[in-house]
Amino acid sequence: MPDTSSRTEKLGAVLRQLRGQGPRSRARLADELDLSRSAVSGLVVELEELGLVRTGGVERSGLGRPGTTVELDGRDVCGLGAEISVNHVSAVALDLRGRVVAERRESLDASGLGVDEVLDRLVALVARTEDEVRAAGAQVVGLGVGVAGLLDRGRDVLTLGPNLGWRDVPLGAELRGRLGAAYPVLLDNEGNLAATAEAQPGDPTRQDLLVLYGEVGLGGGIVADGRLLRGRQGYAGEIGHMIVDPGGRRCGCGRIGCWETVCGLRALLGAVADPDDPVRDPSLSLDDRLAEIDRRARLGDARTVAALDQVGGWLGIGAAILTNALNPGAIVLSGYFAHLGRHLRPAMEQQLAAGVVAPHVGGTQVVVSTLGFAAAVRGGAAVVLEAVFTDPTLVTRPPAAVSGGAR
Ligand SMILES: [Zn+2]
Repeated sequence: MPDTSSRTEKLGAVLRQLRGQGPRSRARLADELDLSRSAVSGLVVELEELGLVRTGGVERSGLGRPGTTVELDGRDVCGLGAEISVNHVSAVALDLRGRVVAERRESLDASGLGVDEVLDRLVALVARTEDEVRAAGAQVVGLGVGVAGLLDRGRDVLTLGPNLGWRDVPLGAELRGRLGAAYPVLLDNEGNLAATAEAQPGDPTRQDLLVLYGEVGLGGGIVADGRLLRGRQGYAGEIGHMIVDPGGRRCGCGRIGCWETVCGLRALLGAVADPDDPVRDPSLSLDDRLAEIDRRARLGDARTVAALDQVGGWLGIGAAILTNALNPGAIVLSGYFAHLGRHLRPAMEQQLAAGVVAPHVGGTQVVVSTLGFAAAVRGGAAVVLEAVFTDPTLVTRPPAAVSGGAR
């Protein structure tokens, strides 16, 4: 039973119940949240004025006479997400129901351009996304930014971005200074944000997850009992730097044989084609290059198939170690792995079956993400929207509601 000791907490509890369980009557909400019907009616009025819920549907299921239902709304409340990756910067706006209001991505070479240029481009992308949100009459409640590297979240400093080639960058201060934003700006590792996007509140099959976010590096996020595992200093999830191939290739972090040296995008591209092949041309869109690799694999091109089997096998070797440690309900293939998941999965599952000690791989399923490279940026938006589900009064009343007009 949720703690509903204060009004804010009660408002949040109603909102979360509607998100997790779908539209329902006030009577049912009262029953489920152990509140009186009049209390629920008052809370619903307040949430409706904030534009966070709407009423009017008819509840058909259940016994007794049908009642009007309350459902999650929040189409005028947006969270922004952004991502700084080695190959791209991106921005998205999601409304409270998780629908995409605006989305854009720009390909670039972050390590070549350097910090200032990349941040300028990211901020321009965020500003255009924000303009679109405001033009649609919606408000922005915050920005969540994912970055490919280790983040000191206490100071909002990027300690190390092995593949960006960045070290000790005060990202939080730099971004806030450039944005001059009136809303909160949160920073997190992109693997953590991808995991946040993949873990769905209320879905029992999405409470224990290992998310593998394939990029130039290999980011990861671990969700246990519905919560992101951060560890003592927030550096949990750096699974790309598990050493699986001692004596192998040098990693961007300086070590030898890290998991991402055999599973990251560089490893795949190196194995799949010669240097002059267009799929290795960084000036072309990564989506198009991955689509071409997918096409070749479907046609049965021997080199492509062998390269994908090799990467899939390495994915399985590392995933087996993590599965023995964590017994996740699902391993989600995200980022570039999602684009090529159908080709990577057979070899991966073979290595998982060989390496996991629990019978039937401990019930762990390998799942291909439907979000792909969008996972991290959507997770950034979801994180700032989560604040509204905790405290709905963070939202300001829409002008139409203040003036009493129709919306
Ligand atoms: Zn490494």
